[in-house]
Amino acid sequence: MRSKKDREDMENKITIVLGTKNQNKVFEMNEITKGQNIEFVLPDGDFNPKEDGETFEQNAKIKALEASKNSRGEYFLADDSGLCVDYLNGAPGIYSARYESSPEKRIQKLLSEIKEDKKRDAHFTCALCLTDKKGNVLHTEVGHVYGKIAYEKKGKNGFGYDPVFIVNNLDKTMAELTSEEKNTLSHRGKAMNKMIEWLNVNLKNKG
Ligand code: IMP
Repeated sequence: MRSKKDREDMENKITIVLGTKNQNKVFEMNEITKGQNIEFVLPDGDFNPKEDGETFEQNAKIKALEASKNSRGEYFLADDSGLCVDYLNGAPGIYSARYESSPEKRIQKLLSEIKEDKKRDAHFTCALCLTDKKGNVLHTEVGHVYGKIAYEKKGKNGFGYDPVFIVNNLDKTMAELTSEEKNTLSHRGKAMNKMIEWLNVNLKNKG
């Protein structure tokens, strides 16, 4: 028999289709929203958006709209994220996932392009776009985390460029943080926390 609180939680739960085919992203989003009564699920069937936007914001919108076209559900959220390096004029930026053919090769290319002793300031950006099933944009958010590119890889956690991104004021790479630590300070965590606030005010208890 379910408790009154469980029943109320189920009634207020928001299920959101996440515009991605990356199960890790679904996992990370569900970790960030743990205890918030918000559940993220993968889109139905194939998910192959044409990411031809010129900004993180445009690509997040393209992915959210693609998910809303092909999936059942009320709400659709997509993120677009990447690493911007000052010395490389913001590259790899929106091309972070396509900078090279594997995560290891992407890191090696990045380190070789910056070379020694160059200005190593960088930041991660995450843009989020939430739509309804008609394709209306309901809300957008952006989050950043600032740091420096390391001279070599350090740490085993996280993914992508985490092992070479030293978080400002922490003296650790993102890959040396636990997932809880990363989620409190990361670009995605910050954008998501702002999005959760918005969801709680605007969508919960509204049927
Ligand atoms: P997206 O899936 O199109 O948003 O691609 C994001 C790409 O940017 C990933 O494949 C990673 O290479 C990089 N990236 C984004 N967020 C992170 C992060 O939190 N840590 C490390 N790399 C990231």
